[in-house]
Amino acid sequence: MLYDITRTISPELCVWPGDTPFTLTHVMRLANGDSVNLTTFTTTAHLGTHADAYYHYEAGGAHPAGMPLDAYIGPARVVTVGQQDGPLFPADFSHVDLSGAERLLIHSQVSDLPDHQWPECFPYLSVELIAWLGGLGIRLIGLDSPSVDAFTSTDLPCHHALNRHKIVNIEMLQLRGVPDGAYELVALPLKLDGACGSPVRAVLRSR
Ligand SMILES: [Zn+2]
Repeated sequence: MLYDITRTISPELCVWPGDTPFTLTHVMRLANGDSVNLTTFTTTAHLGTHADAYYHYEAGGAHPAGMPLDAYIGPARVVTVGQQDGPLFPADFSHVDLSGAERLLIHSQVSDLPDHQWPECFPYLSVELIAWLGGLGIRLIGLDSPSVDAFTSTDLPCHHALNRHKIVNIEMLQLRGVPDGAYELVALPLKLDGACGSPVRAVLRSR
């Protein structure tokens, strides 16, 4: 069984307030007698389901092309949280056996929202949770939330903690209809140099 856990990219897809939305234009059209349909798009790098590169928040950090590719492929655990807003802590995952999980995908109410609707509130990580997950050998943390930090945060403690623990992150997953459990994740960033993030096509395969 394959689950597509990616938000659909279209001009309707919401982006972080103030960021560049996705726009698509036709340069050539079959309907106009051109030899092909040819499209060009403009977008933020943090479009829909995307991987942050360390360069997003560290001046000397890696661009998507330099992020550790193997972190985005492999065993993953999906865990649903009831919390609708605010930071998540180790106690919120104490009921789950994460040994050998390597990747944790956190499913919240945000996955129930349509692609065009920006979440008014969302759960996010804490420095304590990141340190605890790092100690368990977690290499990737994915959320359906649009950030690992609070919406109003400017010092981004969780982003920086991810870098310290050499954990990569994916934001704005779409986990609606995915049962909690163990899967294999494939969610590769594009090989973009210079950019601060990349959309990914994220899929889960039952194990
Ligand atoms: Zn991001």
